Formats: sequence, C-alpha cells, structure tokens
Amino acid sequence: MAIIQKEESEPDAIKSLLAQVAEGQKRMEENRADSGEVDQLGQILAGIADGSLAPMRPDEEPKGSSKPAQKKPAQKKPETQLAQTKPSKTKPARSPRVRTLVIMIDPGHGGEDPGAIGRRHRTREKDVVLAVARILRQELNEIEGVKALLTRDGDYFVPLQRRVQKARAAKADFFVSIHADAWVKPTARGSSLYVLNTRGQVSTANRWLARKQNDADLIGGVNLSNKDKQIARILMDMSMTSQVSDSMVYGARILNELSRINQLHRGKVEQANFAVLKAPDIPSVLVETAFLSHPEEEKKLRTRAFQRKLAYAIGNGILKGFGHKSRLG
Ligand SMILES: [Zn+2]
Repeated sequence: MAIIQKEESEPDAIKSLLAQVAEGQKRMEENRADSGEVDQLGQILAGIADGSLAPMRPDEEPKGSSKPAQKKPAQKKPETQLAQTKPSKTKPARSPRVRTLVIMIDPGHGGEDPGAIGRRHRTREKDVVLAVARILRQELNEIEGVKALLTRDGDYFVPLQRRVQKARAAKADFFVSIHADAWVKPTARGSSLYVLNTRGQVSTANRWLARKQNDADLIGGVNLSNKDKQIARILMDMSMTSQVSDSMVYGARILNELSRINQLHRGKVEQANFAVLKAPDIPSVLVETAFLSHPEEEKKLRTRAFQRKLAYAIGNGILKGFGHKSRLG
C-alpha cells in the first residue's frame, strides 16, 4: 500500500480511495491481531493433527458421526494447509513473481442471457463484454509470464458457479468479470468496480462447504473429508475475508486505471453479493465498464477504440497490482 500511495499521478479521488482501502486493510489486520484469531487457529489445527483436540465448538451439537476412526491426523502439516488456504497476496505490489501469473477473464452473460441492452442501438452487453475480454486476453498473453484465459469464448451461457470453478481449476491468481451496466434513468453513467460483499460470506462459506463436503473435494488445499466442519468453516471465513481484502486492493488499482479513460460512476470500490465473486481463495472483481443505458456510453462501448481502452485499463490495473513491470497499450 505504501508503494501504491507513493504514486504521484493518481487523481485526488483515487488517492482518497486508496487511503480508504489502506485504512480498511490496516483495520482488518488489527482486528485479526486483537482477536488472536490466527494463533488460535494454528493451535486448533495442531490439536487436530495430533488427535488431542476434539474440533467441536461448545455451542454446536455433535453431529453423531464423530467416530474416532475419522479423527485421523491430517495428511499434511496444519501450518502448510493454513498457508495454502490463506491467499498469499496480501501485498499485491511486490517484486515480480517467478511462476506464471494466471488471469481468468469472465465475459458476463452469453447465449440466451444477453445482459443489458442499449437504448439507442440495441447493443447487447454479452457481445460488448466478450469483445473487451478477448482483447484483454490477447494483450495479456503477449506478456511473458502471464497467462490469460476466458470463462467463455463464444456466445453461450456458462452458469455462474461454473465460471468460478473454471478459475479454481486453472489455479487462477486473479478473476475479473466484465460487464456493462444499465439503469432506468438514461443519465446514469460511468465505470464501476465491485468486490464481494462480506456480509454474505458466512452463508457463502456454508454453501461451499455443503457442496464440497458432498463431493469430498478440496478447498484451498484443505481436504474437508478429513476435517471437522467447524474448522473448515473457520478456514473458509478467514480465506474469504482475506480474498475480499485482497480484491479491494487490486480493485482500487483497476478503478484508478479506469478513471483515466472514463468517468467513474461512484468513485470507489463497491461491494455486492455477486455469485461470480465467491471463490474463497482467488481475488475477484467485477467491472461494470460503462452504461449501455447512457446514449453516449453505449455509442462508445460499440467502438473498438473504447473496447481497447477498457481492456488496457483493466489489464494495467491487474499488472500493477501484481507488481508486474509490463504495461498494455
Ligand atoms: Zn452484466
């Protein structure tokens, strides 16, 4: 954050936005430190691993299935699992990474779901966002050490959960969903950026757990079939909290880049309970590029030039966020 704040060319609105994000992150770190949550978790995990701790919260009924045979020590050291669960991206502005940076780009809607429709030219959101996403993929893939992928590469619908699954399957470092906005009033305009609303995080975590428990899959490297639900829930909540706080930082970067090419709708990172932002371990943002319901913005969104600008802005925000030296455009 110090590096982000040092940047001299940021407009004032963005400066205050970045300061807000920095303050929020600091608060989150302090809260973690105050509650001793990290240490407690480490102790709990250590206890589970050596079998000395019954991993049940006092306020929860035992589920009846806690046979001793199921309380085998975990296969890996708990510290390793914890490290894998927590995204290691709390400092996005860092030195260039050795391994490939994988970016999953998600063009919104598709197929029978056209998304928003422009007022003047009946421009379809699904077409515009696919065009922007394809430019972004192509540009990012020209950079060494960066691999960009699309959740859909054509006019078909991909279920929202599936988009998140694709990102996780690709071990994406970052997920960006691209949309175009619409509102009843034609005066609404500007770019917006959303991260997950953490108020939905508990129920989200529970849903993930329910699903993952069923297919005995992995969440962030933790094999839930060998672990108690409560512990898994704590890990999930921590991971989700960390994801959102990381997403805030990357999101501020992208919004800053967008502010150079378009006015901003609200001027700060917003939060919403969008399903595509719910990967517990991948920083995820949703960009509303501009309003298809605004006559001028619809006109711009149709042009290749503006689509390129949008792709460059999103890409450069991501590259800066990951401390990558390369720039698009
Ligand atoms: Zn949309």
